[in-house]
Amino acid sequence: MRPFLAMVLIFTLVIPSLSFGADQAGSNQAGLVGYSPRASQSEREWETKFRAIPDPVNLREYMRRLSARPHHVGSPYDKDNAEWILVHFKEWGLDAHIETFDVLFPTPKVRVLEMLAPTKFTAKLEEPALAIDPTSNQKSEQLPTYNAYSIDGDVTAPLVFVNYGLPEDYEKLDRLGISVKGAIVIAKYLRSWRGVKPKVAAEHGAIGCLIYSEPQDDGYSRDNVFPLGPMRPPDGVQRGSVMDFASASPGDPLTPGVGATPDAKRLPLNEAKSLTKIPVLPISYGDAQPLLAALAGPMAPEEWRGTLPIPYHVGPGPTQVHLKLAFNWDIKPVYDVIAKIPGSVAPDEWIIRGNHHDAWVNGAEDPVSGQVALLEEARALSLLLKQGWKPRRTIIYTAWDGEEPMLLGSTEWAETHADELRAHAAVYINTDGNDRGIFSMGGSHSLEQFINGVARDIEDPEIKMTVWQRAQLSAIAEAKSADDKKELRERADLRIEALGSGTDFTAYLDHLGIASLNLAYGGEDEGGIYHSVYDDFYWYTHFSDTDFVYGRALAQTVGTSVMRLADAEVLPFDFVNLADTVETYTKNLEKLLADKQEEIRERNQEIDEGMFKATFDPRHPTVAPVREEVPPHLNFAPMQNAADSLTRSAKHYQQALEQEQASLGDAAVAAKLGALNRELIESERRLTNPDGLPRRSWYKHLLYAPGVYSGYGVKTVPGVREGIEQKRYAEAEQEIVRVSKALEDESALIESAARELEGAGR
Ligand SMILES: [Zn+2]
Repeated sequence: MRPFLAMVLIFTLVIPSLSFGADQAGSNQAGLVGYSPRASQSEREWETKFRAIPDPVNLREYMRRLSARPHHVGSPYDKDNAEWILVHFKEWGLDAHIETFDVLFPTPKVRVLEMLAPTKFTAKLEEPALAIDPTSNQKSEQLPTYNAYSIDGDVTAPLVFVNYGLPEDYEKLDRLGISVKGAIVIAKYLRSWRGVKPKVAAEHGAIGCLIYSEPQDDGYSRDNVFPLGPMRPPDGVQRGSVMDFASASPGDPLTPGVGATPDAKRLPLNEAKSLTKIPVLPISYGDAQPLLAALAGPMAPEEWRGTLPIPYHVGPGPTQVHLKLAFNWDIKPVYDVIAKIPGSVAPDEWIIRGNHHDAWVNGAEDPVSGQVALLEEARALSLLLKQGWKPRRTIIYTAWDGEEPMLLGSTEWAETHADELRAHAAVYINTDGNDRGIFSMGGSHSLEQFINGVARDIEDPEIKMTVWQRAQLSAIAEAKSADDKKELRERADLRIEALGSGTDFTAYLDHLGIASLNLAYGGEDEGGIYHSVYDDFYWYTHFSDTDFVYGRALAQTVGTSVMRLADAEVLPFDFVNLADTVETYTKNLEKLLADKQEEIRERNQEIDEGMFKATFDPRHPTVAPVREEVPPHLNFAPMQNAADSLTRSAKHYQQALEQEQASLGDAAVAAKLGALNRELIESERRLTNPDGLPRRSWYKHLLYAPGVYSGYGVKTVPGVREGIEQKRYAEAEQEIVRVSKALEDESALIESAARELEGAGR
């Protein structure tokens, strides 16, 4: 990323007077949204004091301590870390406790992977200790390499290479006339969440699944391998969960939808819905190479081939593989550390901030680099409290356990406290690790304007411009079209990413409908240590944010966000950007359907014209696709109308807030703010439906969800989008109606909030 950065710098120097849209970047004199002028000034002063406190020296020391030993769920050091975090919260004067849940957490008992033919080979399944890396030799405490929530299994079958194991890869295999029925598949890591690979493989009839880290993606093709460089060494393995959380729910598989408390009713193991259907094991490219090298059959399509020094064939066979896996299906405790700062004016309105503390092994990058920022924020806030700062709302700091297996600690806490959270939680802010580079913002679009505002007040520690400016210029550099560049220059706010899943905001946003943010710095340093024994203090302090200045920036950014949300007289939600986003989604969905119709029409014509017969190479036979019905037209009018009315009420609310801003501090107005803020808290809940999404009722949000076939990747307006993608057109049409109804309700709520605000001063 460094050559790219040099380009960004030149760009700024050449065009110093570049317009940054309505709110001039870096200007921090303007009144804060949701604050009266006096409150805004006082808030600015407290925030400035806050940002001076986080210290890279502390971040480094916390990381050294928290990543000193392996600390996965159920390990002694996981508990030890939770207690250490608790001691610190208490030492800083915060009201803190540990909340424990009992969850299903499988660990490996038997792992055998061997090639029986055409030659014999036994996979090592072992990451070696390196002399230079002092924590890599903690063998007795390290979890073996495995995928959590794979079922037990003992299978022998021919091997088939399936690229990344995505649904479209199987379509390609169909064209090659290759079936994976009864086979064991081997897929590359990345391009989809890992749990999608065994899911799709099983749906196509495979009986086992291997996932390997391809050197083209995070090994020697990108840079030197660890310990010489940051990339994955030949025996490095990515552990990770393969729980089918997107079709069912994340959290403890035995207590879906309710907290895993001691007296919770638990499903028997064989009724747990989120385990895989076939056994699955992650392997290194060292172990994968002999298996792939022995494959015959057609050559893999060009774009499937990696950079191992072998011809990439698809199979099936003659590679014959034996995979045997057995797990200890134990119940283990998870320790969530919770600290509370009570609100002085509105204690029943909660701002929640979380990062997990458990790791697959030592986890310096994932999650400790985010956890240390959280700790430093908590320390800084406690210092402000001693100086007389009184947050208006209640602030809750949480260090989650059990995120890695699949959001266990955060989900169980959310499910246990669901009623209170629905009543009180205004915003949840998440981080999950941090690196060096550009600020990335994801979250609810009602918070888009807010987080853009925070980013304008944080300085990039290396480039010395605001992190907002740097994010904007990087986005311009990467934008593909002139229209995109124009929008980036002219729109007041940068668009934030919609959230899928893969980290602890999931239960808060998708299940409870709490407006959420997920924040991090990154993009400059490559790495190939994710979920391996080499994600440790040595790696982080040699190859990532080595002087912890981006750790400090993260603490400054998130801490400022927490304070600004906690202190605002009126919660700083904005609905104009939300309405704009909904309009964009509506247009995207119409285009998705039109493209799909066109694609199928074209393919049917090619089949009729004999194109597949004409391009068929008799010596390398392929199979022609079959004719498909062209998708019907869908009625998007209800959604367009709902988006229009949302736009109108959002503008009305924005005007009302601007008009009343000056009087927010008046006593007569102050008395009415409680009711207004309750409506604002409700605004994200209105975008949910208690019945949830089709076939996955745990997911209640109608605008954001993880994709059933993308996992972490978001599907916006998921009911409609997945209906179209998965060819359930009647369902898509019903979902349009449900989404439109939610948007109309949202619009009515915002309209009522606008009137509440206008009436407040009278
Ligand atoms: Zn993590």
